[in-house]
Amino acid sequence: MPLLKSWVDSANTATTDFPLNNLPCGVFSIGDADARCGIAIGDMVLDITGLEEEGLLTLADHAVFDVPFWNELMELGPDAWADFRAQVTEFLRAGSPKQALAEDYLVAQAEVTLHLPFLVSEYTDFYSGKEHAVNVGTMFRGAENALPPNWLHLPIGYNGRASSVVVSGTDVRRPLGQLKPPGADVPYFGPSKRFDLELEMGAVVGRASSDMVSVADADEMIFGYVLLNDWSARDIQAWEYQPLGPFQAKATATTISPWIVMAAALQDFRTATPPREVPLLPYLREPGPLSYDISLEVGLAPEGKPETVISRTNYAQMYYSAAQQLCHHTTSGCPMNVGDLLGSGTISGPTKDSRGSLLELSWGGKEPITLDSGEARSFLEDGDTLTLRGHAQGDGYRIGFGACTGRVMPALELPDWAK
Ligand code: CA
Repeated sequence: MPLLKSWVDSANTATTDFPLNNLPCGVFSIGDADARCGIAIGDMVLDITGLEEEGLLTLADHAVFDVPFWNELMELGPDAWADFRAQVTEFLRAGSPKQALAEDYLVAQAEVTLHLPFLVSEYTDFYSGKEHAVNVGTMFRGAENALPPNWLHLPIGYNGRASSVVVSGTDVRRPLGQLKPPGADVPYFGPSKRFDLELEMGAVVGRASSDMVSVADADEMIFGYVLLNDWSARDIQAWEYQPLGPFQAKATATTISPWIVMAAALQDFRTATPPREVPLLPYLREPGPLSYDISLEVGLAPEGKPETVISRTNYAQMYYSAAQQLCHHTTSGCPMNVGDLLGSGTISGPTKDSRGSLLELSWGGKEPITLDSGEARSFLEDGDTLTLRGHAQGDGYRIGFGACTGRVMPALELPDWAK
């Protein structure tokens, strides 16, 4: 599909994340006013709650956008999602007779505060990047046992905490935890010294289900996608992870980008997952290309210093699509809810500069990377700001996600009773 022209000029450039083809869903506020639902268009936000209040946008026989989250639109289902996109496109397209009406509902992105775009009902994080799994497995268990024996047969994951999910721009405090450095005889309690990021995508489930669903049906249950940073304390993780997997190492925060890019905006960028190395069981086989070609990068800026891009990779690296992950998740009878968030797993590519975590980029701290400022990094330092970015590249336009940022704050002082 070519660029759809809008009368909002800033939406027609090759570099904006938010052309008319995108229409990502966010929640915004201005000053002390209540938060509202909005769509990003160029460098502006269209006030969707305002349009519905005035009767200019109708999706159902009840209000859908009178709450500051998008779950109620999700609950209406895929036909309503398509109807919504058609109605908003009609307001914003070049030559629209509704331009004068819509102009009253446009605000500059520079003037708004963005909030979590949906109520996160549950959060599951997968481990579906093969390069990441091999890299981490090699460091933790040795090259012989790098990939767990189940890995090529099923998308493994763990149940995370929905309460940990925060919107881009939220400061993240370095966690405290129980640590046992290599060679130490006993553990101690203190701040993590190996605090890290994980570059991931998140799939937002828009339909509830209590039954097992096929991969094809799972794909249609996904409302959209966000960028996701699964902050990870590697030293806490190394001591706690056996036998039940990540726990406190991953519970500090999970940052997501402020705009949900609807799956409908990404259909031109479908691509197949990598070739299977062993055949999958029939229930997990994909009926067609269900992954996406989305370029991703990570920037790291020390406090008061310019940013260095430390990794560039692509979502198409993932061995399992979000549809396969969701299908597998339902096979146990696990109920899925509107607002379920599924993390993809860390997205690392085959080259050193395409690794999606500092654990891999610095190879466990043995090979620190050098930033443009001249500083070395093995893991995150206090004051560092991390920014994830991503976009699918169209012909003369891009479908972008906006920035997913977070700054590392110093750990809390240890209370006396914890010393
Ligand atoms: Ca992760």
